[in-house]
Amino acid sequence: MILPETIELVEVGARDGLQNEKTLVSTADKIELIRRAAAAGARRMEVASFVNPRRVPQMEDAENVCAGIEDLDVVRIGLVLNRRGAERALATCVDELGTVACASDGFGIANQGQTSAESVEEAAAIIRCGLDAGRRAQATISVAFGCPYGGPVDPGRVGEMARRLGDAGAHEIALADTIGVAGPGDVVRVMKKVRVSVPDIPIRLHFHDTRNMAIANALIGVSLGASVLDGSIGGLGGCPFAPGASGNVATESLVYMLDSLKIESGLDHSELCKSAQWILTKLGRQ
Ligand code: MG
Repeated sequence: MILPETIELVEVGARDGLQNEKTLVSTADKIELIRRAAAAGARRMEVASFVNPRRVPQMEDAENVCAGIEDLDVVRIGLVLNRRGAERALATCVDELGTVACASDGFGIANQGQTSAESVEEAAAIIRCGLDAGRRAQATISVAFGCPYGGPVDPGRVGEMARRLGDAGAHEIALADTIGVAGPGDVVRVMKKVRVSVPDIPIRLHFHDTRNMAIANALIGVSLGASVLDGSIGGLGGCPFAPGASGNVATESLVYMLDSLKIESGLDHSELCKSAQWILTKLGRQ
């Protein structure tokens, strides 16, 4: 097993972590969460999602959250699913557009009203919007390891999507286990296809801990060349359109694993734990 010396962590707590919370979190608390993550060493974060607020009410203050973190020395990613969202995001301080293409039609239609093929073309169009505006753009392939509606996903299809999105200008391809069905074997199979499709583009991995596989998946993914991992402080998260999806892998757990392997992430485990305690208390959790 060959392990890297460093891994980039993307903190997704303020977006994927909170978007499924039924209790509306105040704008001030979202800003505080992002500031705490930055203070713990996070240098790249998903800070908001520019989606229809009627569908995801928790994200309706995306512009105000961005306005409250303009001074932070971090890369701010704004998630966008369509060109309307891209226009909104580009009017804020986000440094990078996060686009999403779905590996299955069933999830694509439920999550963003697009088939898989349509979502790839929409993501490609959004990437162009971002690059034209002088920002960075990445692409996430959701349900890359399995779909709650359609079951197994063909790794070859994920590889083809990665190639198309890379050709469109995505600086990074993220593979998301949106509902937490992946086991390490799935990570091996999908990573093999994607590495061949986009050999020169960094691969980022996004895991949910539904079946307690997230740490094992992250470790095997890193050993196969993934250079970026997503985490959510306190393991917050889920997805309103992914039945049964439980929390994202906790950032503090990823950091504990990376620290143990002497892989530098730049994040401080004990600071993350304090912030996890803070946000979980806010949400009335243990
Ligand atoms: Mg997620």
